[in-house]
Amino acid sequence: MATRLVIDHRGARHPEKAGRADNPIQRKPDWIRVKAPNHPVFFETRDLLRDHRLVTVCEEAACPNIGECWSQRHATMMIMGDTCTRACSFCNVRTGQPEALDAGEPARVADAVARLGLRHVVITSVDRDDLADGGAAHFAAVVAAVRDAAPATTIEILTPDFLRKPGALETIAAAPPDVFNHNLETVPRLYPSIRPGARYYQSLRLLDDIKRLAPGVFTKSGLMLGLGEAREEVVQVMNDLRVAGVDFLTLGQYLQPTVKHCAVARFVPPEEFAEYATLARARGFDMVSATPLTRSSYHADADFERLRAARTARLQAG
Ligand code: SF4
Repeated sequence: MATRLVIDHRGARHPEKAGRADNPIQRKPDWIRVKAPNHPVFFETRDLLRDHRLVTVCEEAACPNIGECWSQRHATMMIMGDTCTRACSFCNVRTGQPEALDAGEPARVADAVARLGLRHVVITSVDRDDLADGGAAHFAAVVAAVRDAAPATTIEILTPDFLRKPGALETIAAAPPDVFNHNLETVPRLYPSIRPGARYYQSLRLLDDIKRLAPGVFTKSGLMLGLGEAREEVVQVMNDLRVAGVDFLTLGQYLQPTVKHCAVARFVPPEEFAEYATLARARGFDMVSATPLTRSSYHADADFERLRAARTARLQAG
């Protein structure tokens, strides 16, 4: 069950979707069900984030894992506001005209990371097509602030595609994070309906380019399954990601946030996720997470340790 903590006082979250026909939300299979949050640490995490006036993708995307993650203080902060300039048909983040950047946000993120005592933090953002650099300098400022406040914490950033933002990736590479994560989200055939503002090859190139600009940075990408993709299309995306040198692949089940979002075409059973994981490992990813509840940031700290160990073992093996 997805927990919705977002209280909206500002009208429709997705005005561009208001005129669409409803897509009834299907009942989730047993393997998707999660517990409602009730752990005291969950509420401590929530209060700290509110005190620091931070937005999280956990809440904004109505992530089903929020009870488990926040009970371990693992929250994924979403910088640059709560309003996205794209309008992807799968995403629950509010769309519209965002507010100006908050210059105090990097320090508040850094303080929250230090207080939460995170070994590894995942920081994502809304898409900011309205900014000349897509928000790259703000990402770099957040990375620098976290390095300063919590030097032992490893940093993973999950960025937008920086479409038509020349120089943005160079700014990120100069930061640099420990992990650069950019999700392809779905197979190229479905981009026009699922991710209409994005271009598959732009996203792929971004992952390829960061490896060239900052070879030591781990790269990571993911897909949602259950949107109508065919198995051979998923395998082709895996091949594309390996050509781009991506280290870590995540595959999770798409869950429909509201009746105005695209419908779930299919709930992919856990055994099929396990088969995809086998196929991905055979293609040489150092790390694969493929389960119905996998999200980019789910178990990201433990997975980062495994990823780092896998790279070290591979390099030692020559
Ligand atoms: S999986 Fe990621 S987005 Fe979901 S609750 Fe956990 S940290 Fe937040």
